Amino acid sequence: MKFNNVDFDTYFKNHPDANGYFGKYGGAYIAPELKAAMQEITDAYFNICKSRKFISDLRRIRQEFQGRPTPISHLERLSNKYGNVHLYVKREDLNHTGAHKLNHCMGEALLAKYMGKKKVIAETGAGQHGVALATAAAYFGLECDIYMGSVDIKKQAPNVARMKILGANVIEVTEGLQTLKEAVDAAFAAYANEYKDCIYCIGSVLGPHPFPMMVRDFQSVVGIEAREQFLSMTGELPDAIVACVGGGSNAAGFFSGFLNDPVDIYGVEPLGRGPKLGDHAASLQYGTEGVMHGFNSIMLKDENGEPAPVYSVASGLDYPSSGPEHAYLRDLGRVKYDVIDDEDSVNAFFELSKMEGIIPAIESSHAVAYGIKLAKEMGRGSVLINLSGRGDKDMDYIIEKYGIR
Ligand SMILES: *Cc1c(COP(=O)(O)O)cnc(C)c1O
Repeated sequence: MKFNNVDFDTYFKNHPDANGYFGKYGGAYIAPELKAAMQEITDAYFNICKSRKFISDLRRIRQEFQGRPTPISHLERLSNKYGNVHLYVKREDLNHTGAHKLNHCMGEALLAKYMGKKKVIAETGAGQHGVALATAAAYFGLECDIYMGSVDIKKQAPNVARMKILGANVIEVTEGLQTLKEAVDAAFAAYANEYKDCIYCIGSVLGPHPFPMMVRDFQSVVGIEAREQFLSMTGELPDAIVACVGGGSNAAGFFSGFLNDPVDIYGVEPLGRGPKLGDHAASLQYGTEGVMHGFNSIMLKDENGEPAPVYSVASGLDYPSSGPEHAYLRDLGRVKYDVIDDEDSVNAFFELSKMEGIIPAIESSHAVAYGIKLAKEMGRGSVLINLSGRGDKDMDYIIEKYGIR
């Protein structure tokens, strides 16, 4: 299928290009001391990850350890409530550890193992990426250093406990505001020193090439499974698919299965409290082109051109940019990016819980809310929503802040 002169039959061969660009977005804007490290990972990725043995190992692990394939569920009661549109969810909440993040962490850690590395290293904000990576490291017997700001360590006690139980070293970062940004800087600095023995594992389709490509490819299992499952359940493709976009990994993997199909694709960003800078994290909606954390994409900037403060009820979505491939697909018009605010996502959180017996992550609730909005608008047809994770981690906070709805 051709779309705006881009041939989607050969899309994955040509995107990203040899330098890691999706159109003008992506690339690797990094310190010279990290160039060699990135080249090593890129070479290993093309050499190892495309080998028959690596692919068959990863398939076995997904089945035996992660519990894949995750099912698709038809939301019968919710669909009936909103008329003649059938709503479905791809159940990444049932992936081991309760979210899609483990898909790329297992891939990255398996790559580390094949490369003969002893350690994986990463930063974490809310702790979800840290827990997924600590899980993968425990499985493969790798050391795991997770950098985390002091403020986040205090806020995210259960995830800190999980990482420690899984055997990871949680390294406290006390610089600056003591949150995600400082943790990223500390983790990159450590990596520049230690890269001979370890690999850096990024938590989304972000950072310098090859990470946006690699994480997308490891997440593409979600889209490949979903397409096959939906066809065999209904005999057709969905009319529309929806995923939430923070950094964009669950969306990138899910969308990849349908880019070459006559399917409308929607990415949903968090509008938080509203459209004022600082009240949301909807970078593709309100941002401008710029470089941060090693890649060129669309980002939310403050008056000095630095990454702006962002906010969302969903801590997994509050990042001031999105992966370069999303910026590219937005410009092409192949994917439509839109927003859902805190209020609508909390309503969807309760509605899916009460009507279907599935408590969604508050990140995923943004996609559910958008699916419901589409159902109201479309009148008939089908919508497949990627349920990126389960909501156990969000229950206490939501009840405290919003009460039971
Ligand atoms: C981290 C997280 C997200 C956001 O990350 P993406 O890279 O945008 O997918 C979404 N949903 C859940 C459940 C998460 O844990």
